[in-house]
Amino acid sequence: MLGPLPAIRLVDILDILLVAFIFYWILLFIRGTRAVEILFGLLFLVGVFLLSKKIGMVTFPWVVGNFFGGFIVILVVIFQSEIRRGLARMGQTRILGWPPLSRGPDILEELSVSAFRLAESRTGALILLERNMGLSEYMEHGKKIDAVFSYELLASLLSPLSPVHDGAVVIRGERVAAVQVILPIPAESPATGGMGTRHRAAWGISTDTDAISVVISEETGIVTVFFYHQKKVASDVEELSGILRKLFET
Ligand code: ATP
Ligand code: MG
Repeated sequence: MLGPLPAIRLVDILDILLVAFIFYWILLFIRGTRAVEILFGLLFLVGVFLLSKKIGMVTFPWVVGNFFGGFIVILVVIFQSEIRRGLARMGQTRILGWPPLSRGPDILEELSVSAFRLAESRTGALILLERNMGLSEYMEHGKKIDAVFSYELLASLLSPLSPVHDGAVVIRGERVAAVQVILPIPAESPATGGMGTRHRAAWGISTDTDAISVVISEETGIVTVFFYHQKKVASDVEELSGILRKLFET
């Protein structure tokens, strides 16, 4: 007969909530990434392993069993970059208002006007707005500028004759921090299907970091905002500045 259930202590509830939160957070984090496919692959292997053991196979379970002996090490190796990014992100999660919100730069309005002026002249651009996660590691191979933002500056840097017009422009606070920043191109995925390299680079950086990208297409003049796993087309200056303002408030 079962004895009386032990009383649930507060710490047990916290325990369960913590585990649930971590699982939720991990799933949220790897959603839409290559990690999901790898995870399914591993789960499949575990399934076949258990089945082969149950029906009395010897060699296969032995091989797979030894392989999984170092399971944690395997996971860490496979998900190395995800773990690194995840921990960095966790360190930046706001808990009860701390750390304080990064104040949106006052240039959002001017930036939005500039984006559509560039679009009008079909000047392509990838403008990266730095938030809490530093982008210095990406800027290393670009050209440092560190100048006050203005449309005129942006247009001269990005004009087709400018020697630094290729690559992304990084905005830090109210300043143009760097230009000619070449970003990593993410692996092909359903989310990036059909995108050119500029748009893919913007998608990639906005999934890897908390930076917001504003992309102006030189082919179509369409202005798109990329932010964590999402993209939104802005059809005019008001819409763009609205999207940016909202993103910087959260
Ligand atoms: P568009 O709609 O403007 O043509 P696209 O997404 O089709 O953009 P591409 O035509 O492939 O992109 O590339 C256009 C420009 O994007 C390049 O000339 C370059 O300046 C920039 N670009 C390409 N790859 C990167 C990258 N990895 N990081 C930053 N900028 C890039
Ligand atoms: Mg193109």
